[in-house]
Amino acid sequence: MADYLISGGTGYVPEDGLSAQQLFSIGDGLTYNDFLILPGFIDFTSDEVDLTSALTRKITLKTPLISSPMDTVTESAMAIAMALMGGIGIIHHNCTPEFQANEVRKVKRFEQGFITDPLVMSPRHTVGDVIEAKVRHGFSGIPVTETGKMGSKLVGIVTSRDIDFLSEKDHDRPLEEAMTKREELVVAPAGVTLKEANDILQRSKKGKLPIVNDSDELVAIIARTDLKKNRDYPLASKDSRKQLLCGAAIGTREDDKYRLDLLVQAGVDVVVLDSSQGNSVYQINMIHYIKQKYPELQVVGGNVVTAAQAKNLIDAGVDALRVGMGCGSICITQEGTHPCYPVLGLMACGRPQGTSVYKVAEYARRFGVPVIADGGIQTVGHVVKALSLGASTVMMGSLLAATTEAPGEYFFSDGVRLKKYRGMGSLDAMEKSTSSQKRYFSEGDKVKVAQGVSGSVQDKGSIHKFVPYLIAGIQHGCQDIGAKSLSVLRSMMYSGELKFEKRTMSAQVEGGVHGLHSYEKRLY
Ligand code: IMP
Repeated sequence: MADYLISGGTGYVPEDGLSAQQLFSIGDGLTYNDFLILPGFIDFTSDEVDLTSALTRKITLKTPLISSPMDTVTESAMAIAMALMGGIGIIHHNCTPEFQANEVRKVKRFEQGFITDPLVMSPRHTVGDVIEAKVRHGFSGIPVTETGKMGSKLVGIVTSRDIDFLSEKDHDRPLEEAMTKREELVVAPAGVTLKEANDILQRSKKGKLPIVNDSDELVAIIARTDLKKNRDYPLASKDSRKQLLCGAAIGTREDDKYRLDLLVQAGVDVVVLDSSQGNSVYQINMIHYIKQKYPELQVVGGNVVTAAQAKNLIDAGVDALRVGMGCGSICITQEGTHPCYPVLGLMACGRPQGTSVYKVAEYARRFGVPVIADGGIQTVGHVVKALSLGASTVMMGSLLAATTEAPGEYFFSDGVRLKKYRGMGSLDAMEKSTSSQKRYFSEGDKVKVAQGVSGSVQDKGSIHKFVPYLIAGIQHGCQDIGAKSLSVLRSMMYSGELKFEKRTMSAQVEGGVHGLHSYEKRLY
C-alpha cells in the first residue's frame, strides 16, 4: 500500500484502515456493529454540518430521517412531526384506502397552530359526555356544531366554566342548555394568519378561538396553549405550495390502484411500494403503471439488498430504492430456525444491512437513484454508519416507536411505560387487515407464515425532542469524521479517503460501557 504525504507536515504517514471498497470486498456480510469509521480532521463546529440529502430523484430533505410505514409507527401525527423536523413520514397501509388517504390529507392540510380535526360535539350531546371527554382527553374547550362534526354550522362552545358548577343531576342536560352560545363567541374568519389569530386571542383572553368560513361553518380551532408552544421549524419539509411533505405505502395488487388514486387525490408526494422482496414482476408492473398514470409522483421501490435486484427496479423507473431484508428489529425473515416457533420465520433469505446498503448504493448512484437504508437502526451511530456507506436517508421503526406521536396508547408493565411495536409481517398485524398480508405473502399463498414479531418499546417522549437529539448526534458523527456535509461524507467514502476498520467481538465489548458496578444511560 502506498504511503502518502501530509503537505507541510512532519513527513509520511503510513496508510491506515480500509476503504469501503476494501472493507466489502472481503465477502463476509457486515452489520453496522461489525465495523467502525476512523476519525478525520475537524475544522468546523458540529452545528455547521449540513444534513441535506436526497429522498428521491426529485425530493430533497434537510434531515435524512424517515419514519417507517408500520401501523405502530406512522400515521398523521408522526408524519407531521417528522416533516416539521425536516424528515418525512410514510403512512402505513394496514388500513382502508379511505383511512390512509385521510391521514395523508391531515398532513397536507396541517397548518401550525390550527387544529383541523378537534373533538366536536352537537347540541344534543350531554354535560356527561363533556365530563367523560375531559377525563379521557384532559381538556374541555369543545366546539359545538349543528351536526357534531367539522364543516357544520358553529352553534357554541362548551368550556370548564360552563360545566364546573353543575351537579351530578345535570349530567343528562343537553349542551344547548349549558354551552356558551354562538352570539357570545369571539371567532376568526378562515384565512386568518397565525399572527392575527394570536392577537385576537390575546385581546379576547379566551382559551380557544374557532375559525369559521363565510357560511359560519367551523373549519379549525386555535388553542391558546398551543400558541404558547408555537415555534419555528426552519428545517420543515415542504412542497412548492408550502404544505408539509407526506409519503404513503401501497402494495402491488390490482386493488392498490384504487388506493393509489385516493392517495394522489389527498396530495401524497411519494409512494413507497411496500414489499419485503421487491424484485418481482408485480412491482415492476406497478412502477410502469404509476409512472404512466402519474408521471410526477415519486415512487420508491424495494426492498432490495443486491445490485441485481436494484437493476430491475431502476430499469422500471423508480425514483429511490429502499434497502434492507431481514435486518429490522421485529424481523424473523432471515432466520433458518426460530427457537420458539420451529415452523415460523423460515425464509432464510436476506443480507446483513451494512453490506446491503453499500452494495446497492454503490450501484444505484450511477443512475442518480438515492438509497434509503431501512431497518436495523438501533443508535444514532448506526445512522451515521448507514449514511457513510452511501445511503442518502435512513428509515426507522423501533427507534421512533413509543414516541408520543406513534399510534397507540401507552401502558405500564412492571412499572415501565411502554407502547406496542409490531412487525407488519407478524401474525398480529396480518390478522388486522389484508394489506400487510400482501407485503409478506406471495400472490395466492394459502398458509400464513409470520415474518415478524409483536412486542413493546419503552416510552421515548416526543419526536420534537428525540429527532433533535438524532440530528445533533449525526452532526457530531460527521464532525468526528471531518465531513461538513452529507455530500462531502459520500464523496470521501467513494474516493477512498474515508477509512473503516472491522471490529472484533472484543472490540465491540470494549466500545460499550464496561467495568462499572452500575450506571444510568440517559441519552438526551
Ligand atoms: P427497525 O427500524 O429495525 O425496527 O426496522 C423497521 C423495518 O423493518 C421496516 O421499515 C420494514 O422494512 C421492516 N419490517 C417491518 N415489519 C416487518 C416484519 O414483520 N418482518 C420483517 N421486517 C419487517
